[in-house]
Amino acid sequence: MTGTIVLLMQAIVYFVVMSLLFRARRRLGIGVFVCALGVMHFVETYLAAVFFIRLPFGLISPGSTVMFAGKLAMILLLYIREDAETVRQPIYGLLIGNFLMVVLVAILRLSPPPEILGGHDPDLKLLDQMGALMVWGTLLLYLDSIGIILLYERLRGMIGSRIFPRALIALAVVLTFDQVLFFGGLHFLAATPATALFGGWIAKMAAAVVYATLTAAYLRWIECEQPNAFDVPVLGVFDTLTYRRRYEELLESSSIDQLTGALNRGRFEAMGRSSVTRALSSGQPLSLAIIDIDHFKQINDQYGHVAGDDVLRKVAEALRQTVRSGDNIFRYGGEEFVVLCEGLGHQAALGLAERLRAAVPAAFAGSLASPPTVSIGLATIPEDGRDIATIVHHADRNLYQAKRDGRNRVVGNSSPTGNAGSSVRGANA
Ligand code: GH3
Ligand code: MG
Ligand code: MG
Repeated sequence: MTGTIVLLMQAIVYFVVMSLLFRARRRLGIGVFVCALGVMHFVETYLAAVFFIRLPFGLISPGSTVMFAGKLAMILLLYIREDAETVRQPIYGLLIGNFLMVVLVAILRLSPPPEILGGHDPDLKLLDQMGALMVWGTLLLYLDSIGIILLYERLRGMIGSRIFPRALIALAVVLTFDQVLFFGGLHFLAATPATALFGGWIAKMAAAVVYATLTAAYLRWIECEQPNAFDVPVLGVFDTLTYRRRYEELLESSSIDQLTGALNRGRFEAMGRSSVTRALSSGQPLSLAIIDIDHFKQINDQYGHVAGDDVLRKVAEALRQTVRSGDNIFRYGGEEFVVLCEGLGHQAALGLAERLRAAVPAAFAGSLASPPTVSIGLATIPEDGRDIATIVHHADRNLYQAKRDGRNRVVGNSSPTGNAGSSVRGANA
């Protein structure tokens, strides 16, 4: 009985101190709470592995029952009151920090053995065992943390928005999963007896009840404003927790030309290659148009660079309005754009290029005395080449032909064999 009371007291002390730090996060900064959570991890894992007390229903580890279960409750609380972007910081920090520590210790263990000083001998066997356990325990903590949040969100749709039952079920399920796998590791590494598996599981279920109660009480009486994490789709939470959304946002923002909103040259290199591969393997044609603004230098000289930038933006917009929905527009150079059209054969691409050519001056009707025009060179896979460099070269050659022929026109190939020559004339050419 005293053992149970000791564990309960510990859980309450743990929760009260940590939730006070959490409550004070606006004044102290969330870092204080997160550091406290992280710094406990090592000894907590050590206690979970080696320190057991005997209760009527089996061997119990306070490190696992009180501290580890408490940490999961704290991560859930952090998610409920803040959001997925905040909670993933300790989740990833703990994972990476612990792995780094294990690697550093492993390097030490590979170097010559340490000096033996009487009374201060390092326990090397323990160090090795702990290294393996830290890897396993930390990996499980990572999965547990993501699991508890996804489950908590999922349960909203199944049992409503009440905090206590959702926290209780999420904690109970995740702690069960954790107990089975962490115990497996302990059993494998330290031959921990099976009574610790069942005793530990019962104690963790009790911990789930205690922490769910404390969490619900905290959210009811201490911090009762509406939580932030509200009606978010589970998949969105997962994307945020795994940094996927951030990566995709980064990829997207770093792929876009800031001035025109078109995809940038770097993106063309990557997407061009994969479009060609797709076209060749599916047998579908792929057309590429290079679009160059005529006498753009004169526009800059006449109206200034700011107005020139405005023209670039408007040209890009006119192209966007005219292409098909799956076509991609890239800013290829200063005043050059590339349009990639998957599945579009050469004849159809000539028609589209002609519409693009006409759309540009039309977009400036009424705003400029002599609206800008464009020249377009066109090439198509497979007839003009079977790789991106060849096809760009071919389209470029046709573009120069268009310039030579007097600008404001489209030049493609007269025959499927790929001879540059025939052109679709510009309206005023
Ligand atoms: P052509 O019909 O032969 O293509 O004549 P052009 O004057 O368009 O050809 P050229 O390539 O000589 O000039 C392109 C100009 O585009 C030169 C450069 O100052 C201008 N330019 C390139 N990037 C930008 C930009 O981001 N903003 C502005 N305003 N001008 C740019
Ligand atoms: Mg140019
Ligand atoms: Mg030009």
